Amino acid sequence: MTKPAVLILLGPPGAGKGTQARMLEEKFGLVQLSTGDLLRAAVAAGTEAGKAAKAVMEAGKLVSDEIVVNILRDRLAQPDCARGVILDGFPRTTVQAKALDALLAESGQSINAAINLEVDDAAMVTRISGRFTCCDCGEGYHDTFKAPVAVGKCDKCGSTNMKRRADDNAETVASRLVAYHEQTAPLIAYYKARDVLKSIDAMGDIDTIAADLAAIVKQATA
Ligand code: ADP
Ligand code: ADP
Ligand code: ZN
Repeated sequence: MTKPAVLILLGPPGAGKGTQARMLEEKFGLVQLSTGDLLRAAVAAGTEAGKAAKAVMEAGKLVSDEIVVNILRDRLAQPDCARGVILDGFPRTTVQAKALDALLAESGQSINAAINLEVDDAAMVTRISGRFTCCDCGEGYHDTFKAPVAVGKCDKCGSTNMKRRADDNAETVASRLVAYHEQTAPLIAYYKARDVLKSIDAMGDIDTIAADLAAIVKQATA
């Protein structure tokens, strides 16, 4: 049996990782693993990890490597991950990248590709400030760039229940960009040195980026 694919989407907050990961999930049958979503679920459930993460997330800082790696390890152990995974928002530090290498090695797996979505800081702020999500199916939207066909109604599931994230405000976005440049951007060199880095221009429209990504994923999982 072939080993399950492991793809990483790298990129700053608002680059489009979640949007593209959902599209890849549909196209390739892979499972999207978003540590941001897993952490928000832990906060909502009031678990110990969630309690520790809440204030850190609200401040736009990174949650501790220990908490995030534990959450990811548990999720990776679930049976659906045998379909192959797209990591969205993980790893975000070199410590996490090394922990991921070790976790994958335990099951004889390795990274097929780490794909860097390149966007400039100004685009991230515009993307984040217009972002909202369907509460029922998780589909992501944008006030300008991806508005639902019928105002306020989810294209995918018809729900009119939409939410905006508490950390998607101008002040927190500034700290998230600092965290990205200081702690996450070094991963580009980390994966380049391991010969798995791919980069794509993520300043274009959603469908063009999706087509570029699909070509890379096809090649990396062939
Ligand atoms: P990330 O997961 O990297 O933080 P998202 O996928 O949530 O980013 O995208 C951030 C916001 O930008 C969302 O509102 C999304 O609809 C919108 N968006 C995503 N990709 C693009 C794009 N290529 N052009 C314009 N807006 C986009
Ligand atoms: P975005 O891509 O828009 O920044 P995420 O949903 O990926 O949003 O992350 C939201 C917040 O959750 C981050 O600002 C951070 O506090 C926390 N978080 C998510 N993933 C990680 C991670 N791998 N390591 C540390 N903190 C994380
Ligand atoms: Zn929906």
